Amino acid sequence: MLKVTDLHAGYGAIKALKGVSLSVEAGEFVAILGPNGAGKSTLMKAVLGVLKFSTGSIRFKGEELASTTTVERIRRGLGVIPEGRQLFAEMSVRENLVLGAYAQLGVTIPSSIEEKMAEVFDLFPRLRERRQQAAGTLSGGEAQMLAIARALMASPTMLICDEPSVGLSPKFVRDLLAILQSLRGRGITIVLADQNAIASLRVADRGYILDTGKVVATGYSKALMEDPALRAAYLGIQ
Ligand code: ATP
Repeated sequence: MLKVTDLHAGYGAIKALKGVSLSVEAGEFVAILGPNGAGKSTLMKAVLGVLKFSTGSIRFKGEELASTTTVERIRRGLGVIPEGRQLFAEMSVRENLVLGAYAQLGVTIPSSIEEKMAEVFDLFPRLRERRQQAAGTLSGGEAQMLAIARALMASPTMLICDEPSVGLSPKFVRDLLAILQSLRGRGITIVLADQNAIASLRVADRGYILDTGKVVATGYSKALMEDPALRAAYLGIQ
């Protein structure tokens, strides 16, 4: 479904990705892991079209994305939970969801937005209770739910999650991962970039470990978690 081949990207003289290749099949849950500065966010930005890449290829559902805009990628089914959530703090939960749908789909028929919103509120009853509340006053966990809910307004087939656990308590990290797992159960392919390596691998099918812009290890989650060298170097366990 997503195939990244020999991707090079960076910021001026800084080469953040130095030949990254990976693939994600439809229905999979794949974790992208690695220490600070490894290139996880850069990879997510390149996939979403927020950052142009210099060489390599990114194909989604068989089509090259290099010359497509972010909006076009979202229309093709890429959903995004951006780093830092990027909510509209002054606006209500409801308005954030409506704007998410307009920005992502260009939906102009209010009734279809209402239907979608009802579906999303069924998944996140807490957001329904708080639909009139300003997004900026939500707790960290609720704000993260809203970021997920907003992405779902565009009915994505793949969700790209960029460090969603940042700033969340351990309990909310567990809740968040359970939510992502249940979305996978509904047929949405999940790509999760996170520093929380072990927690991510417990829910993911497979993982890629990045370090200084390169893939240094890949495999099924269980195999990665059992590898003594990886445990010590990247997973924070002995
Ligand atoms: P973290 O977990 O700390 O967010 P990461 O794996 O997501 O790390 P990136 O944010 O992709 O890492 O950063 C990869 C490299 O690119 C780092 O060396 C970083 O300093 C650099 N970098 C990231 N954003 C920029 C930018 N806007 N301008 C210049 N350099 C950048």
